[in-house]
Amino acid sequence: MVNKVDHIGIAVKDLDKTIKFYEEILGIKCVDTEIVEEQKVKTAFLPIGDTEIELLESTDKSGAISKFIEKRGQGIQHIAYRVDDIEKALEELKKRGIRLIDEKPRDGAGGAKIAFLHPKSTFGVLIEFCER
Ligand code: ZN
Repeated sequence: MVNKVDHIGIAVKDLDKTIKFYEEILGIKCVDTEIVEEQKVKTAFLPIGDTEIELLESTDKSGAISKFIEKRGQGIQHIAYRVDDIEKALEELKKRGIRLIDEKPRDGAGGAKIAFLHPKSTFGVLIEFCER
């Protein structure tokens, strides 16, 4: 069903400071930042090998990233798997009784189609499916 780890999403309080750490200490360059209004986040993409690190800073207190940091602190928030056909993948999951946060794909950063699976159905990990 899934092809590869598309990216790992990390919730951070200060995007600029975090980017600086990744670029200057780890040597992973940020190639793009984008505000995704719908998800109330500013994201930064840092490709590494065959995958990417996605840093997420909340733009609003009511957003999921803000709530995540409030509850658990900064850190890994989700893991995203690449799929070829997200609609088909979601249908298959529904058929198999997997609980979904998004029944239909929505627009993610970088023009991707994304959908989240509920952590209650995935042994505690927030999984994103991502079609590019
Ligand atoms: Zn993501």
